[in-house]
Amino acid sequence: MFTSDSAVEIPPTAGLPLYLKDLFPSWSDNFPQKIAEFLGVSTVGVECSGTASLIVILETLSRLSTRKNVVIPAYTCPLVIFAIVKSRLQLRVCDTSPDSFELDPEALAKLCDRDTLAIVPTHLGGRVADLNPIIALARQCGAYVIEDAAQALGARYQGESVGLRGDAGFFSLAVGKGLSIFEGGLWIAADAELRAELGRTSLQIIPARPGWEALRCLQLAGYAAAYRPLALRYIYGNSLRRALRRCDSIAATGDYFSSSIPLHRVCAWRQAVGSRALLRLADFQRDLARQAARRLPELTRIPGVKVLTDPPGGSGTWPIFIAQLPNEKVCDQVLDELWGAGLGVSRMFAYALPDYEYLRPWGGEQSVPNAKRFAACSMTISNSPWLDDASFERILAILFRHCR
Ligand SMILES: *Cc1c(COP(=O)(O)O)cnc(C)c1O
Repeated sequence: MFTSDSAVEIPPTAGLPLYLKDLFPSWSDNFPQKIAEFLGVSTVGVECSGTASLIVILETLSRLSTRKNVVIPAYTCPLVIFAIVKSRLQLRVCDTSPDSFELDPEALAKLCDRDTLAIVPTHLGGRVADLNPIIALARQCGAYVIEDAAQALGARYQGESVGLRGDAGFFSLAVGKGLSIFEGGLWIAADAELRAELGRTSLQIIPARPGWEALRCLQLAGYAAAYRPLALRYIYGNSLRRALRRCDSIAATGDYFSSSIPLHRVCAWRQAVGSRALLRLADFQRDLARQAARRLPELTRIPGVKVLTDPPGGSGTWPIFIAQLPNEKVCDQVLDELWGAGLGVSRMFAYALPDYEYLRPWGGEQSVPNAKRFAACSMTISNSPWLDDASFERILAILFRHCR
């Protein structure tokens, strides 16, 4: 158990690999403008992380409103909690719909009131969330909608980038989230006035802090060198297997975060590296979508396995497959064999948010049975181009054996 007989390590999500030449970019590239063109919007804010982008959005909204509560799904990244805490707002954790990471409209309706500042639906793993019921509820109670598109750069709804149907949206440029500059984030907003306010907040609250940025530059160079199947075995796989042997799911999913969120400016070099890599992103995502279209039917043929797809009008990206297995026991058995096998099989998050011991001081006590079940029964399968057909067949065979 938790040993890998393979010499390589498939990353758990299909991030865009950087080339050495990306580290010597042309300095004339204007990253915010290039990424705005990619997304089909007029302006994009660049921050040092997805979390920092959410903080800029939350700080702006709390300047425009006296409301204090922010509602988030019970199955999402713990960093979202720390953005809310840092912005001195109140967390409200909402259960998800059955068999889904999306906010459950019924549970959401109960949490919405005159003190609800914002609702934060998530487009998880490239999937496009169904925002219709969320936006309707937000309008009813006068709350803003912030689309957490941290894992969905390039996902579209009716031809437009996600993040534009709500009031604001943000993306992550962290390691493993599609386009990466090691750590980084973007915010967008459909409304020009709100964009101006977001820009003002960013100037006000984000300091330069060149020390942090120098560290990120070194880390970016290291990441560019190490994001290869051979090197990943040593820098990702071995520590993953150690965490699994300790039964530490939080370390295995990389879900231990510090509540102190660094805020600093992203330097011109890292932005130029991003511009350079961005030139390959559309083709890379198109290839991933093709591979996903080929592999999706093979996964859904397995009895009892459900793989998340997009609602009508949605056209997401495919860094991973999010699969739900028939029950918790089968999911544990499959992961005993595959998580740690070097094949890019993992969990999205270790638990539903209320089940992270270390989040207790900030977390709520809400009852979230659907999110707990989803956390216990779901797994992710990398859609990395490095996962070849033979390795994918191995994953299928193991799934078949346990789900039969
Ligand atoms: C990664 C992530 C974030 C935070 O983004 P960072 O760039 O890591 O700060 C927020 N929400 C979700 C769903 C994420 O996966």
